[in-house]
Amino acid sequence: MKGCDCADEPLMPVEAALQQMLERLPPPLPSEAVPLDAASGRILAQTLYAPADVPAWDNSAMDGYALRFSDWRPGIGMSLGGRIAAGQVGGRLEGGQAVRIFTGAPLPEGADTVVAQEDCRLEQGQLLIDELSTGSHVRRRGEDSHAGDLLLAAGTLLRPTEIGLLASRGVGALEVFRRLRVALVSTGDELREPGEPLAPGQIHNANRPMLKALLEGWGCVVIDGGTLPDRHDVTRRELAALACEADVLITSGGVSVGEEDHIRNVVKELGGLHLWRLAIQPGKPLAFGEVRGTTWIGLPGNPVASLVTALVVARPWLWRAMGRSQRPPQPVVLPSGFGWPKPRVRAQFLRACLASGPDGSLAVLHGQQGSAQLAALSWAEGLVEIEAGRTFESGAPVRYWPLADLLS
Ligand code: AMP
Ligand code: MG
Repeated sequence: MKGCDCADEPLMPVEAALQQMLERLPPPLPSEAVPLDAASGRILAQTLYAPADVPAWDNSAMDGYALRFSDWRPGIGMSLGGRIAAGQVGGRLEGGQAVRIFTGAPLPEGADTVVAQEDCRLEQGQLLIDELSTGSHVRRRGEDSHAGDLLLAAGTLLRPTEIGLLASRGVGALEVFRRLRVALVSTGDELREPGEPLAPGQIHNANRPMLKALLEGWGCVVIDGGTLPDRHDVTRRELAALACEADVLITSGGVSVGEEDHIRNVVKELGGLHLWRLAIQPGKPLAFGEVRGTTWIGLPGNPVASLVTALVVARPWLWRAMGRSQRPPQPVVLPSGFGWPKPRVRAQFLRACLASGPDGSLAVLHGQQGSAQLAALSWAEGLVEIEAGRTFESGAPVRYWPLADLLS
């Protein structure tokens, strides 16, 4: 952007804006050691390899009997010798015998097959098996992973699934990226905090608690910068102070074209405005820049626009700034349960839900799509993206972003 604020300037497509934003990532965050029990939701800062084979030895996948397959004959009884439970060691299988075995117990030396107890019978102390296939119900050494295999790459989000994997490999502590510190500010003389009474003309501050919850859910530490009045001097003082404390500064409101919108001017004075105004609805006033060397993301004031741009634009940038290297979630393509006869200049992100259609799920829209209407946002399970300039009839494929993917 060349210093021009003129509102007639063409709007920047979301993809192009994101690309420019990702060219301005801050340096990687430092790492810190945490115990596995405290690692959920953190981003792995080291690449981890399997320290040993898992399972470490052949073991039984069922409660039943272990034997050597070549000793078995259909309908001919086998004598029993021994009993091995989980936590015990396997011992040796005597020729022609079967051994009572339980799930997770090591196979005795010489055994290669397990028959489940429900697939055999005992008659006069002899084990009878009618059908058996070689190697059945045996979990082989190393079948889950081998010593030296890649377990998890640096940049992986540690979900309960990864915590389980690491626990099973005996990892008790690991290096994760320090949490991203995000200073969050709302702006507007009209705002009062939830719980406070409203005087005429005032509204409750929806964005501050909403964005705080969103950022914390993504694993950021939120520095609450409170609500700023629509005043240039206070805005300048507060943004300058917060920029020193945080890795990223996020504001809501005050980035439109009105005289009460001071944020962009302050950002220009304290650093620089890199982009402003995207071809997205809701969310056109989105801005990106820096304050005293700290990245600044200026979200729109209207709450739905604020949330949608946080999900669609801020999230992929924050994802990378947090150290995440996996590909962010992608939309699914579904038939639309509505037509779109009129092309729009801006890409649309519309509050939607799934409904059942003749051949599976359809994406259907909420009737209220105003950028201040939060009830429809809470109703929505996803956002339907409609590319700028597109028209289609009901049943045409559309990109559907499940909100659950974007919110986590
Ligand atoms: P602005 O971009 O500051 O002009 O704000 C656009 C609209 O969003 C106005 O109607 C504001 O009152 C409203 N708005 C701004 N910030 C918030 C907020 N934190 N919570 C709820 N509404 C807001
Ligand atoms: Mg305002």
